[in-house]
Amino acid sequence: MSLMEQCYRKYICWLCVTIVVMFVLPFAVARLSSECSGMALCLMLFFIINPIYSAILGFNCGKNIRRMWNLPLVSSIAFLAGTWLFFDIKEIWFLIYATVYLVIGLSAMGISKYVDKSKKSFPFSDTPNTAVITCTHIVDDKEPILFVSHDEDDGMWQFLCGREHSDDDAKIVSLKYVFELDHTIGVLKNLPCGYCAERESLNDKWRISQQ
Ligand SMILES: [Zn+2]
Repeated sequence: MSLMEQCYRKYICWLCVTIVVMFVLPFAVARLSSECSGMALCLMLFFIINPIYSAILGFNCGKNIRRMWNLPLVSSIAFLAGTWLFFDIKEIWFLIYATVYLVIGLSAMGISKYVDKSKKSFPFSDTPNTAVITCTHIVDDKEPILFVSHDEDDGMWQFLCGREHSDDDAKIVSLKYVFELDHTIGVLKNLPCGYCAERESLNDKWRISQQ
């Protein structure tokens, strides 16, 4: 599975959970509970579950802002749509709640992005603009990096997808560019010249061997 597919799956998962929490739960509360416990459940939903969920959602979106930035917004809209539909009143307070959830979500997203960024400072001793070899599958098709070599003779780094390659597949990019694509290669920062590292998939450990 390519990196793009994994991101897409993750997005869909979060979207479904968001719809359940922000849209289906208010429906369940409005329809299934008796008057008295319904009120208590509403309060719990509006003041505990929804704010906490907004924070968790925002924090996870911050790890992949490029794809998931819009989920806090979707979450607030789902909440508003749900409450307005199921509670039968176009209560202005729901708009305020939705705005508060959005602010919580966006703040959590910002914090998580900031934490992530400081964690992912450039780890290699080579300069970020060092030219490295990669392949079109990784750059254009967003396939995962599964083979890394640090060449003996010229110290050249290669980041490849693990397939067979012809000269047409090669691309020269900067080390920083590859690191931005996939931060997990940072663990190979001390790979000595003349060694290579392989893994089966994004989630597997690197196996290091001499070339
Ligand atoms: Zn390739």
